[in-house]
Amino acid sequence: MLLDKSSCDALVCAQSMDRLPLEAVLGPGGLLATTQPGFEFRPGQLEMARAVLDALQRGGHLCVEAGTGTGKTLGYLVPAILCDEVVIVSTATKNLQEQILHHDIPRLERALGRQLRVVLLKGRNNYLCLYRLARFEEQGRLPGLDEVHHLEVIRQWSHTTLTGDRAELSGLPEHLPIWAELDARTERCLGQGCPHYAECFITRARQQAREADIVIVNHHLFFADLAARRSDYGAFLPDYTRVIFDEAHEIEDTAASYFSLQISNEQFAELLRDIAQTFIPDAERARAVRQAYQAVVERAAHFWTFAQKVCRPASQAGNRNRAGSGSDARGMLQASDLATEASGYTALAAALDQLAEALGQAAYQKVGNFGINTDPALLRLESRARQLCERLLRIVQAQDANYVYWWERPSPRRFSLQATPIDIAALLREQLFHQVESVVLTSATLTADGSFAFIRSRLGLDESDELLIDSPFDYKQQARLYLPPDLPDPNHPDFTEAAVNEIIALLDITQGRAFVLCTSLRHMRQLYERVREKVPFPCLIQGDQPRSSLIKTFQAEPGAVLFGAASFWQGVDVVGPALSCVIVDRLPFPVPSDPLVAARCQHIENQSGESGGNAFQSYSLPQAILALKQGFGRLIRSRTDRGILCLLDPRIRTKPYGPAVLRSLPPDLPRTGNRDDLRKWFCNVP
Ligand code: SF4
Repeated sequence: MLLDKSSCDALVCAQSMDRLPLEAVLGPGGLLATTQPGFEFRPGQLEMARAVLDALQRGGHLCVEAGTGTGKTLGYLVPAILCDEVVIVSTATKNLQEQILHHDIPRLERALGRQLRVVLLKGRNNYLCLYRLARFEEQGRLPGLDEVHHLEVIRQWSHTTLTGDRAELSGLPEHLPIWAELDARTERCLGQGCPHYAECFITRARQQAREADIVIVNHHLFFADLAARRSDYGAFLPDYTRVIFDEAHEIEDTAASYFSLQISNEQFAELLRDIAQTFIPDAERARAVRQAYQAVVERAAHFWTFAQKVCRPASQAGNRNRAGSGSDARGMLQASDLATEASGYTALAAALDQLAEALGQAAYQKVGNFGINTDPALLRLESRARQLCERLLRIVQAQDANYVYWWERPSPRRFSLQATPIDIAALLREQLFHQVESVVLTSATLTADGSFAFIRSRLGLDESDELLIDSPFDYKQQARLYLPPDLPDPNHPDFTEAAVNEIIALLDITQGRAFVLCTSLRHMRQLYERVREKVPFPCLIQGDQPRSSLIKTFQAEPGAVLFGAASFWQGVDVVGPALSCVIVDRLPFPVPSDPLVAARCQHIENQSGESGGNAFQSYSLPQAILALKQGFGRLIRSRTDRGILCLLDPRIRTKPYGPAVLRSLPPDLPRTGNRDDLRKWFCNVP
């Protein structure tokens, strides 16, 4: 990173970094205030930094909810720098990782006048595998001209890149099918048996991470690594005793996905393709592999065809297979669905077992009279076949009551079966909170109704310090919560029409410049279709462009209105008047028919004691509150922003849980049900 000596060198040199007080960096007149134009002292940020540093130095866990505008990134980065131990910083997305590395760290380096040892690591599939590249070139199998060109670009780049990070290939399209053949994902890696091990980008990244003081990862990589530590693949991250999770409200689902078992038609196809392309010198052993291979090809084709017939979308099956979020993408799986003679799963498992056996035999070659050579590529294929066999049996038989079994069709050609732990708390308690000395969880949305109890119980965090920092924004002056008085219940047939009329009236007040956040894709489309015909503002909808370019278009088009579902409720940062209104169609309760949600709710209903019994109170309501707070967080991003939050769902006024939802929004946020008053306030009419 940049080393840009500042006028503050004398102060920094006068004391070692670990003894530099936080106030000297973040305080009024501190290093950031005096060297970084635009830095503004924020008492909440300093308070947060003190608590984080205390947890990191002393050990022990900490939850910090830092309201929007606290400056939480510096609030945890500065203590991470001042702490004596290696700190892992985990963010929700790759974009946030990049922002920390390319924006916040250079700022801190300039302020502190010294270089920081910070490394960014991404998931392994972001890095080029030199072994796969060499094999791919040897085989020379490229279906089209585009791929010939892409391979040539990648080949040239592989000689010059220091990181092997695919993000450097900015000239190539985002969707690059050839990359799936070349990336360094764990299950294909030969480890120390690889002929390219010494110059491998994963080996280098791991080495750099070992020498760093701060390692920036994302939640996917962190939990993939945590789960891999138990397996024979081993760890990617260096050993650590301190972890900070930003956007920590997201880690339950991410952790659950990495502690899941999964098999897919794509995994089978990839394994078979890799076997077909592997040379086996011994003719007899090659024949045995070919025979076993052919049996797997036939039985896998039967099994996946059968599975896709049984696991039908909601529109074609009974309620049990209903999919969530208005899509037909996923549904519940029972043992009786596929653990049958007709599915042929036992025959497939037997064929996989034979294939693994044949690959294992082929991996050992006699050399001369006494020597034996092992082929790491064949050993890796053997292990993949065994793993698929084991997972197939465990998922299809669906015997473990701690797991929910489900199917997913993420795209028309991809179909997967999964087993996910229903309650991730016990796993995280044992493998994270009991193993790591200090874990800091932070986000703008960790509390529901003023309490951290929900997030802590979901994650298995039994003991922790807690800190709640209010946003420094003046919501009394900057925002209004508008609750339309006359809308019907969202399940009433007239709701959508009434919602459309409210949206049109609101857009007239704010002259467009709004997000319409919806809880289902179907309702998002309905509102979009009806509103766009009647308003003079450009209307955009999720799915028409990639998310990042949609946000750019929204910012560039005067008066634009964006209709979005799940992914727009959080992580979108539009500062200024381009976003002056956030309209929420319904309270964002989790979809009860989603297999994971249904299993979690059932699990809670089956429990007794303080946390058990009432899935709505213990799970659905707090989830909805956190999601609503995230949605509101899109509106006011700076001290000069002004805007309206409108909740079209009347249940916030009519249902007993309404007050708990309202209490979770900022207490100084004025509320109105009168649109004329709203117009006067927004237009500054006295
Ligand atoms: S060590 Fe693994 S990731 Fe690295 S080049 Fe070899 S096979 Fe690829």
